[in-house]
Amino acid sequence: MKFTPEKYKLPDVSMQPFIDDEEIWEFINQAKPTPELVETIVQKSLNKNRLNMAETAVLLQAREPEMIELIKQGARELKEKVYGKRIVLFAPLYVGNYCSNNCRYCGFKASNKEAIRKTLTKEELIENVKALEEHGQKRLILVFGEHRTYNAEFIADTVREVYKVKKDHGEIRRVNINAAPFDIEGFKTIHESGIGTYQVFQETYHHETYTVCHVSGKKSDYNYRLTALDRAMEAGIDDVGIGALFGLYDWRFEILALLRHVNHLEACYNVGPHTISFPRIQDALEYDLDNKHQVSDEEFTRLVAILRLAVPYTGLILTAREPHHIRREVLAFGCSQIDAGTKLEIGAYAENPEIDQNLSKEQFKINDDRTLNEVIDELIESDYIPSFCTACYRKGRTGQHFMEFSVPGFIKKFCTPNALLTLAEYIEDYATESTAAKGWALIEKSLDEMEDDRYVIQVRDRISRIRQGERDLYF
Ligand code: SAM
Ligand code: SF4
Repeated sequence: MKFTPEKYKLPDVSMQPFIDDEEIWEFINQAKPTPELVETIVQKSLNKNRLNMAETAVLLQAREPEMIELIKQGARELKEKVYGKRIVLFAPLYVGNYCSNNCRYCGFKASNKEAIRKTLTKEELIENVKALEEHGQKRLILVFGEHRTYNAEFIADTVREVYKVKKDHGEIRRVNINAAPFDIEGFKTIHESGIGTYQVFQETYHHETYTVCHVSGKKSDYNYRLTALDRAMEAGIDDVGIGALFGLYDWRFEILALLRHVNHLEACYNVGPHTISFPRIQDALEYDLDNKHQVSDEEFTRLVAILRLAVPYTGLILTAREPHHIRREVLAFGCSQIDAGTKLEIGAYAENPEIDQNLSKEQFKINDDRTLNEVIDELIESDYIPSFCTACYRKGRTGQHFMEFSVPGFIKKFCTPNALLTLAEYIEDYATESTAAKGWALIEKSLDEMEDDRYVIQVRDRISRIRQGERDLYF
């Protein structure tokens, strides 16, 4: 499809493809960065304005160290000024790895005869969710291969099952999904089960590369995948996550294409994606792509900073695919969510010797295998507030990131207090002694920093109720 801006403005572009490779390259090639221009663009973002494609292209083309530092400093400032210190934690739970696609980068591809195929039985699912709850997890993302077994009813049943599992004080309060795209009816069925975010990554927005990487199976249809979240929106799921797998094609192209995707959803549905993910490709079983477009550590940290500035009110998810030191650096650029205590092997959260034999057969390698408590401990030491907050989703406050960004006082009134309450719960129920001590100190410090005494009184009151055994208190 040839993209024309005039056509783009019409409301009938929903459910239509919206990526024009040539147009994206034109934006990149026409960008002429200077330090002054970069500074102006960064300032626009700091003034709480979204960047357009041309402005983002300027940041993508900035190569001089001086300009790169302006970008990174801008992202740090935006994070500090707007979002504060909260980092939301979650864990992925791989439910099944049967797959009929052949994505060349993925260990689950159908042609990989080495892969041990497994779908968690209901009992195993419950055991794994209990194990996650025993560590203190409250937010999960369920991950599925693309296979007829994992139809909409199966996914919806799995979600309902997960919500039912309770272990002591443990419960899962938000279940997100990363699975194949469905038709509108399928998305409706899944929506009814009470999911949080539905994620579908385009992997690469570049048409030719997409065809090369997706050899066979349903996923080889570029446009069906591209319009997946339009169908999700039509089905009533207004909380969606987009993403690209960095390393398949030029990272600058992918960033602009992600931005085009944001524009498309905003134009058609009046709401952008809740989150953007930017996994970097990792080694996997039978991985068979060249590494021409591999993204270096420096490029990766830069692309996260650019993304932060381009879409200042969208949640950014960083995963355990990244090593510890990279995670630390990009957290300062405004990533809002990270996974922790992650295990990608099917069934590995529950200690089951039979399943443990599969340990080397995960989808790809992760680089940060610290426990949830270790991650929380380091976040606290680095002055971040670990949060398991699910309040907006459960109170029906949709467009959470947008409100955090644009409603004055929203973070002070809701997000920080809720983060502190979920941290207090974690400390009471799961933290090691030394993490607990650091955690209480951080809570005290954060309460001291709160400007409005009314909030301090209310948070203190709820914390003392948590210490007496009450749970799930939020604003
Ligand atoms: N099967 C569904 C799909 O393809 O959308 C969902 C599950 S898939 C396992 C989730 C994501 O894992 C993919 O969207 C892809 O971005 C990512 N992934 C696959 N292979 C990877 C690799 N070698 N390194 C890093 N991420 C990978
Ligand atoms: Fe299957 Fe998803 Fe892996 Fe592709 S990325 S092979 S669809 S699990």
